Amino acid sequence: MTPAIALRDGARRTAREVLTGYEGPRVRIMEVCGTHTHEIFRQGIRKLLPPSIELVSGPGCPVCVTPVGFIDEAIALALDHGCTIATFGDLMRVPGSSQSLQQARAQGAEVRVVYSPQDAEAYAAAHPGERVAFLSVGFETTTPSSCLAVRQAVEDGVGNFSLLTANKTMPGAYEAMSGSADLFLYPGHVHAITGTRVCEDLASRGVSGVLAGFTARELVAALAVGVTKFAVGDPFFVNCYPRVVTAEGAPAACRLVDQMMEACDARWRGIGVIPGSGMRLRESYAAFDARRRYDLPRIEGRENRACRCGEVLKGACAPMDCPLFGKACTPDHPVGACMVSDEGSCSAFHRYGVDV
Ligand code: SF4
Repeated sequence: MTPAIALRDGARRTAREVLTGYEGPRVRIMEVCGTHTHEIFRQGIRKLLPPSIELVSGPGCPVCVTPVGFIDEAIALALDHGCTIATFGDLMRVPGSSQSLQQARAQGAEVRVVYSPQDAEAYAAAHPGERVAFLSVGFETTTPSSCLAVRQAVEDGVGNFSLLTANKTMPGAYEAMSGSADLFLYPGHVHAITGTRVCEDLASRGVSGVLAGFTARELVAALAVGVTKFAVGDPFFVNCYPRVVTAEGAPAACRLVDQMMEACDARWRGIGVIPGSGMRLRESYAAFDARRRYDLPRIEGRENRACRCGEVLKGACAPMDCPLFGKACTPDHPVGACMVSDEGSCSAFHRYGVDV
């Protein structure tokens, strides 16, 4: 049974009953996080929702928001600078301007799939004759791990290791997306690191949201709290994942990132440049920054114009609205990043069906 929610009239209903019996105003909820999108599908939660509760995708899949130019930069590092690229498997099939890393590997680029930045650093330590560049993507949840790998390289004296960074932070994306939905379903893992102050601040400026965990019970409860509060009409923030997320977050992880990285402007696929929403290594760690170390020129990248990933990531269209969905673009033959990643919306709609 899902948890009970107290209603305005004093009645209590289970979270599931609140959702299935919702009779309030139409509400549009943005699943900021790709993992939420997949879990909501996988747990069958969409089937509970009446038409007046609309879920739309958001920009919270790290692979999906990584711009085409980043893939081009990685390929240039491999082919023009002789680097060994170490990357999470998801990035292998993301199309660049003219090819993916997988295709570049077939042409002789040295590309290795790793499971963590620590694996990449260990590989560099074991292969001192190679220039190893790790593709560091992700949000507040994964950035500390990249910092730890650099710190390990410093301690181990591993000079052939570097990061090609596309790390991003969520607050700028919340601001950029704040008019796209009535409320956010905030990602629990991001706020386990950052704490909840940014959500509280957004609520004080009229942007509502609920913070959710990842089990069916937690997701149903958060959605039920969200629509119940929304029907009242005032801006709100509720932490529905208090067993993991506190107001302070994880100060040690934040301190580590702050010591080693600094904010920079970052390009998000579909959204464009969000000032201060990226993270790069500080000057004192420049030797571990692949762009500075190899004097990599700026590469803008060319999006495939037929792909509507950018609009999907802004909640401006659904994956099925893309004419390529399920035809020219499938998980086996992805045209855009949202069909590649396990956290991508197009991949979720393709895997679980579009009728729910
Ligand atoms: S279906 Fe494919 S081409 Fe269309 S938006 Fe999604 S990823 Fe891009």
